[in-house]
Amino acid sequence: AKGLMAGKRGLVMGVANNRSIAWGIAKAAADAGAEIALTYQGDALKKRVEPLAAEIGALVAGHCDVTDAASIDAVFAEIEKAWGKLDFVVHAIAFSDKDQLTGRYVETTEDNFNKTMLISVYSLTAVAQRAEKLMTAGGSILTLTYYGAEKVMPHYNVMGVAKAALEASVRYLAVDLGNNQIRVNAISAGPIKTLAASGIGDFRYILKWNEYNAPLKRTVSIEEVGDSALFLLSDLGRGVTGEVLHVDAGYHVVGMKAVDAPDI
Ligand code: NAD
Repeated sequence: AKGLMAGKRGLVMGVANNRSIAWGIAKAAADAGAEIALTYQGDALKKRVEPLAAEIGALVAGHCDVTDAASIDAVFAEIEKAWGKLDFVVHAIAFSDKDQLTGRYVETTEDNFNKTMLISVYSLTAVAQRAEKLMTAGGSILTLTYYGAEKVMPHYNVMGVAKAALEASVRYLAVDLGNNQIRVNAISAGPIKTLAASGIGDFRYILKWNEYNAPLKRTVSIEEVGDSALFLLSDLGRGVTGEVLHVDAGYHVVGMKAVDAPDI
């Protein structure tokens, strides 16, 4: 993919460490020639993000907590100052209280429902509002979703409801921003062991189940998600918007899953 992203500048939000999906995408885009800006959420993650930014020569655009609109504004002001324009944004942000990512969805509290929706859904729209102003030559916005938006997955609970709303947001934003040649898409990634995923009940079992049932008989890596993201972020994907691309080793197409997986 060398040179595929040459001349493009993109903001990648959601790097927590080198296992983050956002990092897989940032690295793939940088390797393909893009200039990257990263944000971090709070001081604890700053220490992790700074060395990663240095590794790919990325700009550190500062702290961003999407529950604090002023911090989103500050990041976009920083980007405007440094670059004056923006070609792509990766939104790889989600949160829900860990104790509600297990057991029954019906127990979800109003407080956690609202918090989950604000951080995992509305934040994409908040980011798109600001990105639109800087995407003067068109652009590509990409978010991350999961199959739990489409089907009920054990323990995914309120996050599944949030991902369904996130996927609907992708379609509405695609229409609103399409006039300005700004594309909005999502990647529906298969399960990957990250910091956020470790909050989901029985996650190791979910990984094994996917390995056993996916057509490719394995799970996917952040490098594979990064490579697929290049298609949507680059001009190769210029005819694609409002789409949810599954990067899940094919898991979502299998109707009849095996029940007798030998080693799970
Ligand atoms: P991760 O823990 O590496 O990344 C999650 C990021 O969200 C972190 O960088 C965290 O700082 C950020 N975040 C949480 N609350 C925030 C807030 N209030 N403000 C700003 N940032 C905040 O985990 P990940 O698995 O790489 O998650 C990235 C995205 O991928 C998420 O949307 C997740 O739902 C999605 N996803 C993950 C998987 C998986 O199995 N790991 C599968 C499909 C989709």
